[in-house]
Amino acid sequence: MKLGLPDTLTYEQWLFALQWFENKCAYCGAESVFLVREHLVPVAKGGGVTALNIVPACQPCNSSKGPKRAHLWIYEKFGMTKGKEIVDRIVAYLTEVKEVKVEEE
Ligand SMILES: [Zn+2]
Repeated sequence: MKLGLPDTLTYEQWLFALQWFENKCAYCGAESVFLVREHLVPVAKGGGVTALNIVPACQPCNSSKGPKRAHLWIYEKFGMTKGKEIVDRIVAYLTEVKEVKVEEE
């Protein structure tokens, strides 16, 4: 964790993310008992631990993606067709997260 980056993800938000992705990796869809908090915008590029920047991912995807930006790595790894499905799913998730936030305010 770099100093100065936002760190606002609550336990409830993390549970919501796990539930939304059905306890599967947000990228490859693998079912895993151990999903890590994956930064869409990597820490190295200023991505914080926030509801809009964290998705659950399996360890292999997390390691493979490394410090790349999510959508670039997704297209590189899964190709355009499958990649677009994955990106669309993540965008749909982020849209819901935003709506939840608005309702709370
Ligand atoms: Zn994965």
